[in-house]
Amino acid sequence: MSNSIIDVVIIGTGPAGIQAAIHAARKKTSVLVLGRIENSALYGAHIENYACVKGVTEGRVLLEAGISQVLNFGAEVIPEDVLSIGQPDKFFELELESGTKIHCRTIIFTMGVSKKKLSVPGERRLIGQGVSYCVDCDANFYRGATVMVAGNRSAAVDGALTLTDYAQKVYLVAKELSVSPELMDRLQKSTVEVLTPNWVKEIHGENAVSSVTLEDDSTVNLDGIFIELGSKGALELATQVGVALDSER
Ligand SMILES: Cc1cc2nc3c(=O)[nH]c(=O)nc-3n(C[C@H](O)[C@H](O)[C@H](O)COP(=O)(O)OP(=O)(O)OC[C@H]3O[C@@H](n4cnc5c(N)ncnc54)[C@H](O)[C@@H]3O)c2cc1C
Repeated sequence: MSNSIIDVVIIGTGPAGIQAAIHAARKKTSVLVLGRIENSALYGAHIENYACVKGVTEGRVLLEAGISQVLNFGAEVIPEDVLSIGQPDKFFELELESGTKIHCRTIIFTMGVSKKKLSVPGERRLIGQGVSYCVDCDANFYRGATVMVAGNRSAAVDGALTLTDYAQKVYLVAKELSVSPELMDRLQKSTVEVLTPNWVKEIHGENAVSSVTLEDDSTVNLDGIFIELGSKGALELATQVGVALDSER
């Protein structure tokens, strides 16, 4: 397929890309899906809130099932990243990591978002083991636990307030809180312990988060930390073929 003009190329092998590929392939178009499932936000997640999925399922298992479904409908999957996109003629030209060039009529961008990181020691190693970027996804795993939210804006405060319905103790660490007076009022009336101005210096734990060290060198024992610093889109590739993006708010 790679040498011909493909009808639909889908960049991204997360849930959005997989669903798009299933629909496109069932229309009997030629479909190529690009990207690695290991880079999907879902890959390391534990899922218990998807309809029709009973119990807690690993994201990796769902993604592998999705890719197998995509292949069964006749789409091709190449587990490589796209480095650049151009439009030298009426077709799009995509360059992959291996140097392979792909030509297609249509591109669907499903590259997800990447959560902004704290970039402190321990963070990457403990993702999914107490380090989370999604309160709504993971709060239920922390019933009765001690947790911290790191962030300065409304998502962090909202996340901390949500967690008070689950955890027995919730800390909010912020360099400087910047939220509406209404949200600040709710925070002050809540049981959340606010640590500000302060910030996370290191996350500790062997196989799961056990504590954090803060910039004032204090240590807080924890079962989990939620990092709520917002997201950045992965859509910059799309700008190479003239797609206009909303400015970051
Ligand atoms: C720890 C954690 C727990 C979560 N728990 C839940 C939960 O319980 N319930 C829930 O509903 N959601 C949960 N989520 C959120 C869920 O994972 C995301 O909403 C979902 O993965 C978004 O799907 P997506 O297809 O938009 O993007 P992603 O799944 O992030 O997929 C993006 C894809 O784009 C690819 N890509 C990016 N750039 C390129 C490129 N240049 N070339 C080729 N491919 C590229 C990546 O490789 C990846 O395959 C969780 C997320 C995390 C991190």
